[in-house]
Amino acid sequence: MANSENGWPLVVEAQLEPLAWLPNNARLLAGPVAQVLGYVARQFAARVEPITSTSSFRPKATIGSGSTYSNHASGTALDMNGGRHPQGSKDTFTDPQVGAIRQILAECSGVLRWGGDYAMPITDEMHFEIRPGATAAQVAAAAAALTTNTPNPEEDMPLNDADKSWMTGEVHRVVLEILRAPEFQLNDIPARVLAAKVSDDTGTLAQTVRDARQIARRTEIAVQNLSS
Ligand SMILES: [Zn+2]
Repeated sequence: MANSENGWPLVVEAQLEPLAWLPNNARLLAGPVAQVLGYVARQFAARVEPITSTSSFRPKATIGSGSTYSNHASGTALDMNGGRHPQGSKDTFTDPQVGAIRQILAECSGVLRWGGDYAMPITDEMHFEIRPGATAAQVAAAAAALTTNTPNPEEDMPLNDADKSWMTGEVHRVVLEILRAPEFQLNDIPARVLAAKVSDDTGTLAQTVRDARQIARRTEIAVQNLSS
């Protein structure tokens, strides 16, 4: 079986894994290769620019008019936004974008090569691939490291105004639901007054949290009163 330029064997459709969230029916060699290049694509979309087009598996594609098989033919290469970063063009990314790309590549344990780093004559800034010499074991280790080291993005994301307003709404909703429960509908005037205050409150999340704490304390007292 012939190999592509990076030494990985040519593959057929059945060996590929779809990256369904990407445009243009993106698919790569199933397993660690798809995991690592899939990571690159997700990070690229989050940290470099949105992905509007891709090119991935191209059966038996060759490099230029030569007889060397392209890494696209082994399912180990992914092009992103080719229209904006065409083959042969240089400096199609800004410096901060290049910085982000280098950081993403570094996170993949050195198993990748970026077409922007190709020696002349032909740069290929849309193109990311498994680098020549990277073994299956090294790519598997890189994929495993990504799984262990990648923080859940939701844990690190600062709250924006929309999040805060959603959370405030949720706190109001839950608090009101609790206060409307039958056991508080009877003669629990303080709770009802508080419910009205919370529902009118357009203040900050911190204020809502303070209100919720106060309600929780009063609710505790009310429950004690009910059960005594
Ligand atoms: Zn390419």
